[in-house]
Amino acid sequence: MVRVVAIGLDGATWDLIKPWAEKGELPTFKRLMENGSWGHLESTIPPVTCPAWVSMLTGKNPGKLGIYYFRQPDWEQFVMKSVKINWSEYLPLWKILNSEGYYTNIINTPTVTPTPDDYKGVYVQCPIMGSNSFDEFVYPDFVRKLLKEMNYERLVPGNPHTLGWDKYLEKVYEVVQKKAELALNLFENTRWHLFFFTIFYTDQIMHYFWHYMDKNHPKHVPSKYKDTILEFFKFVDSIIEKFLNKLDKNDILMLVSDHGHGPMYKEVNYNMYFSQLGLLNFKSNVVRKHKTREIIYKVLGKLYHTPVGIIVDRINLLSVKKAKISNEAERLRSKFDFIDWQNTVAYNPTVNAIFINVKGREKYGTVPRKDYYKIREKIIKKLQELKDPETGKPVIKKVWVKEEIYSGKYFDSMPDILIEPIGETFYINYGFDNLWKFRLFSEPTPLTYSTHTRRGIFLAYGPGIKKGYKIENAKIYDIAPTILHIFGLPIPNDMDGRVLMEIFEEDSEFAKRKPKYVDPSYYEKKQEDEKLKKAIKNLKLKGKL
Ligand SMILES: [Zn+2]
Repeated sequence: MVRVVAIGLDGATWDLIKPWAEKGELPTFKRLMENGSWGHLESTIPPVTCPAWVSMLTGKNPGKLGIYYFRQPDWEQFVMKSVKINWSEYLPLWKILNSEGYYTNIINTPTVTPTPDDYKGVYVQCPIMGSNSFDEFVYPDFVRKLLKEMNYERLVPGNPHTLGWDKYLEKVYEVVQKKAELALNLFENTRWHLFFFTIFYTDQIMHYFWHYMDKNHPKHVPSKYKDTILEFFKFVDSIIEKFLNKLDKNDILMLVSDHGHGPMYKEVNYNMYFSQLGLLNFKSNVVRKHKTREIIYKVLGKLYHTPVGIIVDRINLLSVKKAKISNEAERLRSKFDFIDWQNTVAYNPTVNAIFINVKGREKYGTVPRKDYYKIREKIIKKLQELKDPETGKPVIKKVWVKEEIYSGKYFDSMPDILIEPIGETFYINYGFDNLWKFRLFSEPTPLTYSTHTRRGIFLAYGPGIKKGYKIENAKIYDIAPTILHIFGLPIPNDMDGRVLMEIFEEDSEFAKRKPKYVDPSYYEKKQEDEKLKKAIKNLKLKGKL
């Protein structure tokens, strides 16, 4: 029987992996590229960990999920709220497979939070949006015991500034090593058909160490950390090799990432631009208050980069500074009461996403629906005109409108305009999160000198998969349908992705088999039956039947 092993590498990009593999630095990647099918995997827009993994595991675009970032505006409570991923509504891959009797092991994949009631297999939630309770993030009981025995750590407690760069790296290796050991143990000792194991720290290592590697980065300094990212990928390569050596003859291995990575040079806050244009108005006391805070931030912010700053930060003095600013910063990033909504047309709450203050949708909407397209065009034109005063060059490469990207149930509550900056990643935007700086352009925050591109990775290897084949136009939505097709299962017709048929060898059963589509109710009914069966079994076990 066919089994699928998917290894997720958060933020991985061929832009780094391909040249390293070709040079022989990453022998397992090289071997897999020569003997498998591979190519870019286009992420969601914006390419953010949440929703990207959710889209991958459901085959659905963010308009069907209602998710475009970790925190989103909640118009009823008038706050920014952490999103709650309602997996039971989305019919994710594992639910489909479980309802067909297949076992799924999902280990450490960001945003993925199964629940035990109708689950078949093992899960260990990732700290990224997983439950904080030890009892909730692991299933079933024997794995919980195993984790205790291993002293399994979910998370590296801190970052290079708080732990020190060497200690941080030491800790990352330790934590990832343990996660890999756990995954390899479960790989060998449990029953599964889909095994999904994700390494999250690839993303953090790139965020933190990119500028040491990248000689063209304005923050580049010669450093002993110049090869840290490469070294970490060598470590990842060795973990993948261990899985590769354990594959059965019918197993198919996939490598996937939720998005790619690229260098980031500056921060831009479109709220400040809208404020200059009169499209957004702050309440008058807000800006004044921040003038003084900004001076404190500037002085201490400069110190942050120096060895003195790092020591001071480690003994938590800068945290005092942060705490002073952070109450206010927290208010700005979470509450909406600093904006004069009756005099606001557009705002930028989350990464590269612009909302129009639409009447009837927003609590204090000002733009009537009939003027929506006219106003949106005006805003887009203004965004395209925005130039970096330092370079005189445009900031934005492409502006998307929502109907080019999203469709589905949540379409109306999705952002109206999406932005792709020049170089895709050269300008980062955090919306309300970094509004407290009150600057249109600012230095990037330390520890984030790279950010996400839309080009993630895809690779498939195994019997029936073409060797050395370069696939074009693979999208994050295609993973779920492709896996279902490999299992010979019909694809719910509300998935946005397609089966990546071109990766299959012509004489393989996968190529000969035509993708089948069904109404999602086909699986929903099966799921209900499975739930009922499980409930009866539990009652029997408890001796109540
Ligand atoms: Zn990510």
